[in-house]
Amino acid sequence: MFDSEYLDIPPLASAGGAVRLPGSKSISNRVLLLAALSHGQTTVHDLLASDDTAVMLAALKQLGCTVAKSGRNGESAVIGGLGGQLVQRKATLFMGNAGTAMRPLTAALALLGGEFELSGVPRMHERPIADLVDALRQLGCSIEYLGNEGFPPLRLLPGQLKLDQPIHVRGDVSSQFLTALLMALPLVARRAIRVEVIGELISRPYIEITLNLLKRFGIQIERDGWQRFTIPAGSQYRSPGEIHIEGDASSASYFIALGAIAGSTDGQNGIEIMGVGADSIQGDIRFIEAARMMGAKIDSTPNSLHISRGIWPLKAIELDCNHIPDAAMTLAVMALYADGTTMLRNIGSWRVKETDRIAAMACELQKLGATVEEGADYLKITPPRQASAWKCAAIHTYDDHRIAMCFSLAAFNPAELPVRILDPKCVAKTFPDYFEALFSVTKAKTADIPVICIDGPTASGKGTLAALTAHRLGYHYLDSGALYRLSAFAASRAGVALDDEDGVARIARELPVRFAGCSIFLGEEDVSKAIRTEAAGMAASRISAHSQVRTALMDLQRSFRELPGLVADGRDMGTVVFPDASLKIYLTASALHRAERRHKQLISKEKPTTIAAIQLDLEARDARDMSRQAAPLKPADNARLLDNSYLSIEKSLDQVIEWWQGTRPF
Ligand code: C5P
Repeated sequence: MFDSEYLDIPPLASAGGAVRLPGSKSISNRVLLLAALSHGQTTVHDLLASDDTAVMLAALKQLGCTVAKSGRNGESAVIGGLGGQLVQRKATLFMGNAGTAMRPLTAALALLGGEFELSGVPRMHERPIADLVDALRQLGCSIEYLGNEGFPPLRLLPGQLKLDQPIHVRGDVSSQFLTALLMALPLVARRAIRVEVIGELISRPYIEITLNLLKRFGIQIERDGWQRFTIPAGSQYRSPGEIHIEGDASSASYFIALGAIAGSTDGQNGIEIMGVGADSIQGDIRFIEAARMMGAKIDSTPNSLHISRGIWPLKAIELDCNHIPDAAMTLAVMALYADGTTMLRNIGSWRVKETDRIAAMACELQKLGATVEEGADYLKITPPRQASAWKCAAIHTYDDHRIAMCFSLAAFNPAELPVRILDPKCVAKTFPDYFEALFSVTKAKTADIPVICIDGPTASGKGTLAALTAHRLGYHYLDSGALYRLSAFAASRAGVALDDEDGVARIARELPVRFAGCSIFLGEEDVSKAIRTEAAGMAASRISAHSQVRTALMDLQRSFRELPGLVADGRDMGTVVFPDASLKIYLTASALHRAERRHKQLISKEKPTTIAAIQLDLEARDARDMSRQAAPLKPADNARLLDNSYLSIEKSLDQVIEWWQGTRPF
């Protein structure tokens, strides 16, 4: 996951390949609650692992439910149901910003009786819940507002239930209120209970998911149009034993759009989406129809989709989006690539989601150069008139996962401008690995993938600084010295003399290296420690003077230049390997300072040595690295010099980020 402050997406050129989507958020959280309320155990396969499901799981555990992992990689969850009875009747529950946890749990706990407090993040306390509370109060539930009237946090207390009258609930603000009631009422359906919807029910597809899942758990709700629902007397939750969660159809929308905007046109290659398809029970699957109207070519199987580019530019559309409220945000970004003005109507519910999505989309689309008209319940989007009218923008994401995901698609702009996504980790709400998935199926021109080079002498702190810089920016990290160390190590292992240039080069060319987090593997062997010794560094320095070895490692080093960017450290990153890097830094410190630092490291490993001896070694290594014929160590012509003899690592990092920021157009 990208947990950097911002993520710069370079201009993207094309898209193709396969993605497997994480499980649907709406289905995951409903299934978790239903499994918890049921008799018996439920094994939930392909459960979404995200902030919102974590919130639900934590609450269920607090209430006495057992939750275990199963499957080879722990990908399935086994929920031990409470059988309609609470073990814990008193708890304080934190709901984060998960509406799919807050609303149904409020209803279920209010009906089951007990003392509960439910709160969330500040935005959750701005999301209305009065319609649900009003409906529950009609039933005799005792609910208090602990903050503002009509909003969480809430306190639930035991009440006297009256189930003889039909219950009225408003359906025109959020369908989640009705869903909450439909999922909770079977708990107390000693007699048939009728629910009547007031106002026009929005987001009906979500009610269909609810009814569908209730059926899987043994509850057959009778429905009269979309206004009246009856929970039959004697309804009882029964675990289906096992249940599979389909891929998230709203998350599919970004990849459908990707195929339409940048997929191949031959219908063969394009984007393949696995885990959700024509048989989906999720309403947002109908995004396909809207994407087709705009020009996407889409084929489907029951549980996969294949998308390629059809009509280009995309066709502007006018659409009532009530049936696909979440996925419709993706249409707003597709509209940037359309041949005219797109009108998205009936999207009033956007205003009470993770943020006011109408206002947020309007603001961010305009930053990119679009002309946007915002109404109470509509958006009208006219794309930038020509390539030069696109603007470089840092997209504010309002702690809203969908804003972050849909605006990543703006990186295909014809002006070839990068797009900055602020707070990219907000995607963790539903799709923690969204950007990794995006980069796995998109390509940029190599020259557009930024590289930061940090070169310098041994023990100058390059490795630490480069790794921190990479982490701060969400970029990949190349420790090129490790490749020389590995080559020397592998040569020694194979009995090849270090001065046998041909022999070492052959080994370097076929190095079976694999980086896994902080560990380095040679074949199956973890050699991270073995290559870090002083002797391994000396051996690396010796073989690095062979020009054939340097050539042998060139392609391998350049292959690290992948989306969204790279920070590389070494001796010749800026001079030879990435001469076009956007920022080159030559990091140094006095030999004495470097020797002192290395001494500290070695002492902590309990190896007896003196500073003077280390300094001599360092100077010998520097001399060899600087005087060799092949790619000698020296600052690149346009390198920034950074002497960190008296700088803390934090100050050095701030300096690098400041220089980097200076090269960026944001
Ligand atoms: O940076 P590190 O100490 O791990 O590098 C080990 C040796 O590998 C260096 O002393 C240097 O001789 C060589 N090297 C190189 N070019 C690089 C990185 C390291 O020649 N880009």
